[in-house]
Amino acid sequence: MRDGSARGLLDRRGLRCLNKRMSTLPVANAGPWEKRTCPICESTSANVYVAFDALCFSQCGMCGVVYKSLELPDLRPKGFYEKGYYTHKRSRRLKRFEHRCLKAQKLIRNALEFIPARSLLDVGCAVGEVVEAGQRLGIRAAGCDISNFAVKFCNDRQRPAKLGSLEQLPTPNASVDLIVLKHVLEHTPDPKTALAEVRRALTNKGGVLIAVPDLTYWKGLWQRRQGRYFRPDALGRQHFVYYSVATLVRLLESSGFEVCARSKAVFRKDFASQSVFHALAESLRFAMVGIWVWVAPRLHLRREVVVIARQS
Ligand SMILES: [Zn+2]
Repeated sequence: MRDGSARGLLDRRGLRCLNKRMSTLPVANAGPWEKRTCPICESTSANVYVAFDALCFSQCGMCGVVYKSLELPDLRPKGFYEKGYYTHKRSRRLKRFEHRCLKAQKLIRNALEFIPARSLLDVGCAVGEVVEAGQRLGIRAAGCDISNFAVKFCNDRQRPAKLGSLEQLPTPNASVDLIVLKHVLEHTPDPKTALAEVRRALTNKGGVLIAVPDLTYWKGLWQRRQGRYFRPDALGRQHFVYYSVATLVRLLESSGFEVCARSKAVFRKDFASQSVFHALAESLRFAMVGIWVWVAPRLHLRREVVVIARQS
């Protein structure tokens, strides 16, 4: 910020707020964090999407993805994802484990229609809902997380987990069939590097299951300053990139993946082939999910983008 290079990304209001905020800050060792190019198409053309005192999000003028372009230092305290993240009174991470586990099983079943996985790695495994879901489906499942607390929590409950990040997965080359990135990819400012690391760890016929917050959800579109998406006291300090279906597909295709499914509407042939009853039940379920998947984005009610992709 000292060279003023990020000022072109801030509107007048955001710049005024930022200047005011910076003038009241103690002298910091590090300058603000800045990103000047789009994380997907590398264009430098961008418009301010929303700006606060402490950070700014920009929208790429070429591909439309929204990314954090400026953040003041020390916005996120050290040890952010340790015990307090899971145990403070407003945290939902330790609640409704069974419900989250059942939802994860449904997502994994969808992925298995395209990726015949015998092993699974959940990146950002937290308390291990996805690992548990994988184990219940008979898959060799493990997790990794940057949080010491989360890794110990999982291992204490027979859910294998290691310390590791999206940029450095704790697994050898070509060793995992399915990598799950459930609300993880939005946490990295450099998703292309992250997906290159994912490809390194995947087997030849392996793939990814990705879920991210949907930029086109009404709160992301129309409550930019009030909603939780961007505020520096809420998700804004954790998230770096907000995707739509189109931008996530573009990222995956440019990173060496072939997209198999762009929503939760996947017909489970395995289940339907068991009997006539199962075929009818699956057809009904598929129709219901399909209707919702068609309606929700048109009313801006879809909260997350779910994509399944395999190595191309
Ligand atoms: Zn772009």
